[in-house]
Order: sequence, then structure tokens, then C-alpha cells
Amino acid sequence: MKSLFLRSLLSLSLGATAFGGAQAEEQVLNLYSARHYQTDEALYDGFTQETGIKIKRIEGKEDELLERIRNEGAYSPADVLLTVDAARLAAAHELGLFAPLQSAILEARIPANLRTSDWASFSTRARVIIYAKGVVKPEELATYSDLADPRLKGKVCSRSGSHPYNLSLMASIIAHQGEAKAEQWAKGVVANFARAPKGGDTDQIRAVAAGECAVAVSNTYYLARLMRSDKPEDRKTMDKIGIVWPDQKTYGAHINVSGGGVLKHAPHKEAAIKFLEYLASDQAQRYFADGNNEWPVVVGIKIDNPALEALGKFKADSLPVGSLAMYRAKAQIIFDRAGYR
Ligand code: FE
Repeated sequence: MKSLFLRSLLSLSLGATAFGGAQAEEQVLNLYSARHYQTDEALYDGFTQETGIKIKRIEGKEDELLERIRNEGAYSPADVLLTVDAARLAAAHELGLFAPLQSAILEARIPANLRTSDWASFSTRARVIIYAKGVVKPEELATYSDLADPRLKGKVCSRSGSHPYNLSLMASIIAHQGEAKAEQWAKGVVANFARAPKGGDTDQIRAVAAGECAVAVSNTYYLARLMRSDKPEDRKTMDKIGIVWPDQKTYGAHINVSGGGVLKHAPHKEAAIKFLEYLASDQAQRYFADGNNEWPVVVGIKIDNPALEALGKFKADSLPVGSLAMYRAKAQIIFDRAGYR
């Protein structure tokens, strides 16, 4: 009894001196990350160097991490969840996993359409149309709507309609054009399939280059990765395909994000906010671009990435990321109805 009393006294006094510089107490941040990019290592080191806060990283597949945080509940050691795709961040929000996000720095640096009340984006990627040069003319592919045009019958390759990248694209189409038109579009694309959906974005790029189909969509960082590759087969692939920025005369190309938020039961909330603010710093923003071929969310960051440079400037859809989230469930229902598996 006595020792318990002493122990709680001791922990009280430790808590009280934490700000006064209890040197022995190591500051840590528990990061649950679904970003599996090797180069992210450097990003995390930068934070530790700057703040002295050590990062303990738990990596997992996106959906597994969400499940894990949910199961851990109030006892979860997770401070920050970092993941890719607005649809997945929306899922974390809907499960009530995030704490409200309040930071003047994030509000000042991240454009309003790329934040919500409890998570923020730190990089963007666009979903573009790719085509086989000499088989299809880029003028025929000026919009996502063109993918549903009967003249492309038997020419379109796609990954699964259930994949978050396609769900988010569909969500943006619902937001701009309404459910009825979105469903018509999905049916039109399905009617144009060269084969049943399979593989990831890079598989679609290779299929277009190999002549299995003539048109597909892909996230830009997969293209940038192939553009920066020194493997001869990747060069050949990129020589055979062209890239179109869709919907440049209207809404702009659909963009998706990688982002994160502080978790509701985070034991180190202050460190968590500091980490998210660090991700919006010039240094970290440059890293997203130069290391992983994504665009910074902070305006005016100078980057050094020949592939992004080569992709050039484009008009990005300014739809709030929260809207992508809002139509996510609807997007899946429409894909199911259209047979976009
Ligand atoms: Fe990806």
C-alpha cells in the first residue's frame, strides 16, 4: 500500500518536472505508417535531428493499421497515423480514430482544400490518362469522360474498381457530375475494357506499352518512377506511352493525397502535432517531391526532381479532400452496379 502511494507520488513529481527538463526521460513518438517508401527513412531522421524526439515506427498495410488502432482502443500507443489516399483517411475519420487537428502552422501552410478538421495532406499525386502512342490520339482523351466513349471499345485497361485510387477518382466524378452521370460513365468504361481489371497502376502502364490495351489511368508517381529508372525495359515502356492531363478546360486533373492525423488516444499529443508540423516544413516538403515523386502541398517549395519537371505544369482539381471522402461509399456502390470489379 505504502509503496503504491510512493510510486504514484514519484510519477506525479516526474510528470511535474517533465517540462523543467527531466533529461533522463526520452521523448518518443509512435508512428503508425502505411507509407512503405524506403526513402521515408531520411524524412523521419530529419524530425529526430530537429526535435530530439525519437520515432518508433509500426508499419503495416493500410487497412490492417486502421483495424489495429481500432482494436487497441483507449490503450493504443499510436500517436500519428500516416497513410496514402483520401478514401483511407476518410475511413479513419469515420471510425472516429482521429483527434481534432488544431495547429496554426498547418492552417497557414496547407491549402484549405487539402485539410479537414482532423487530418491533413502532406503531398499530392495526380491520376492521369496514359495512352499507346500511335494507336490513340491524345486529343481523343482530353477528359476522364472520354474513357467511356464507345470509340475506345476493347482498348481500356484498369486496376480494380474497389481500389481506393479508383474509388477516389469516382468520388470526384460524383461530386462534379452527380450520381446518374457517374454511373453512366462507369458502365461506359466497363464496356470498353480490354480485359477484366487486374494488377496495380504500373501493370496498367506496362500493359499499354505492350499493346494489351491502348488506354489506362495511373498515379503520376508510378510514371515518374519509370521515368527516373535506368533499366532499359522501363525506358522502352515510357517511350511507347503518352500522358494526358485530363479535364484541363474544366475542373482539372483529379488529385489524391498522402496525409495523416493525430490519434484520439495518442499518449504524446504534443510530439504528434510537432511531427505533422515538421511534415509541412520546407525540408520535409522537398523530400516528398525529390524522394518520392509527389508534389508538395505547401505553395512555393523549390524542388529538384527531373521527372516531375518533365511532367510539367497542369491544372489540378481543387475539390476539397473532404468531398472525396464524402462520396467514397457511393463510389463503391456505383462501381458494383456497373460491374467495375
Ligand atoms: Fe500507390
